[in-house]
Amino acid sequence: MSLQVESLFTAALGLQAPWKVAKDDLDTAKRRIDFEVISTARRLGCPSCGAADQGVHDRVRRDWRHLDFFQFEAWLHADITRIGCMACGKTTQVPVRHHYEPQVHRWHRRQRQADLRMHTPATPMFRDEPF
Ligand SMILES: [Zn+2]
Repeated sequence: MSLQVESLFTAALGLQAPWKVAKDDLDTAKRRIDFEVISTARRLGCPSCGAADQGVHDRVRRDWRHLDFFQFEAWLHADITRIGCMACGKTTQVPVRHHYEPQVHRWHRRQRQADLRMHTPATPMFRDEPF
């Protein structure tokens, strides 16, 4: 598919650099769309200790399901990067960040609650509504 379509899906999935959609495969009969996600980074920060500019140790194949795209089951496939860190000596998998990654979801929720506290000080603070 065209570069523009892949850019569109990268944005729609909320993928963050260095991750992007390289290929998409829509199967209308199976009502399923598969995305091949790639990282272009050769060096990344260590997720364990935070040391910057560490080399890629290896890549591990992973497949996982995303929220559906309309009526289509959406699946992501990627060779997940593992960093071999010179600073802490650990080999750590670097997570693929996208919209619906639970940690990011929780962060947005906390951020939203913080915003509520800032803008509407008279509102009770103990509500935990879904959004
Ligand atoms: Zn490290």
